[in-house]
Amino acid sequence: MATVELRSDTFTLPTDSMRRAMAAAEVGDDVWEEDPTVNRLQELAAKMVGMEASLFVPSGSMGNLCAVLAHTQPGDEVIVELDSHIYTHEVASGAVVAGVQMRPLDTLDGRLDPAQVQAAIREPDIHNPRTGLLCLENTHNLKGGICLNPRQTEALAEVAHRAGLPVHLDGARIFNAAVAQALDVRELTGSVDSVMFCLSKGLSAPVGSMLAGTRAFVERARRMRKMLGGGMRQAGVLAAAGICALTENVERLAEDHANALELARGLQGLPAIAVDLGRVETNMVYAHCLPPLTRERFVALCLERGIKVDASSPGTVRMVTHRNVSRQEIAYAVKAIGEALRAEALAAVS
Ligand SMILES: *Cc1c(COP(=O)(O)O)cnc(C)c1O
Repeated sequence: MATVELRSDTFTLPTDSMRRAMAAAEVGDDVWEEDPTVNRLQELAAKMVGMEASLFVPSGSMGNLCAVLAHTQPGDEVIVELDSHIYTHEVASGAVVAGVQMRPLDTLDGRLDPAQVQAAIREPDIHNPRTGLLCLENTHNLKGGICLNPRQTEALAEVAHRAGLPVHLDGARIFNAAVAQALDVRELTGSVDSVMFCLSKGLSAPVGSMLAGTRAFVERARRMRKMLGGGMRQAGVLAAAGICALTENVERLAEDHANALELARGLQGLPAIAVDLGRVETNMVYAHCLPPLTRERFVALCLERGIKVDASSPGTVRMVTHRNVSRQEIAYAVKAIGEALRAEALAAVS
């Protein structure tokens, strides 16, 4: 039985053109900034997001941590959304490594409100931590791949900037946000001071993320990357795949979004799960299991049919569409999950 891999877009495999580019890549020692392919990727990425410079980092988590380290001092407070990746899924690296205190703010849909951010910025007072940074996330992973639009991003950045705070955007899936809203990605990055985005998710590169900002910021971040052990040598082999990711795989994210909508429409109305179609803006579908159906049972029913889904948070199952899930596989998943849940419902009443 073939597997339908819906756990994450991190499961995407490198394309044939990536494999060829990797084999042919011109390389050098990137710690000495002498890898021509890494340099080419960094220039391309900076230009695409409208920043002066960018840095190739081994993972998105390291990119976010380099940004926190480069923007803050130990003892600073960092304003984050409660379900943000930085706050929930990065092993408390900000606390452990950067020595910052996170100030999580709760939201309905992952979109911070400017007034809420304003209220969280500390007064200068001998008792208070200094508010040092605002972090945004676009698309918001745990809230279902929801997008911030340019106006929302600008309003949040304005509140921060008025208080002298820099703004870091965790844009792991910023190209999903841009494609979903039919925007140039620069409209989503133009008002922030730094942005991290992943090459290794929907864009299908095997490894790596980019951290972009001003030249001075990127120089500080480069030091932090070295400190964390992320200085790489002939990394052009990986950067070559990143260049393909950015030049060949951005526009096609629209297919993933169409597939997610198709999946959500197919699952909506099935017994024992709830899918909020209004939240399907990009490549994620969250299904809430309604008692007596448990998350574990739902995952097992899917797995029996060759469908892998992610049991991320309590009561909820995440399904992510990407380049290695076809429209036919989506149709199969809808049919197979539908049959499984209807059979479960029948068994429950008999
Ligand atoms: C995936 C992800 C990251 C970083 O991921 P790595 O697995 O460390 O590359 C950061 N933020 C968000 C929102 C993500 O989804």
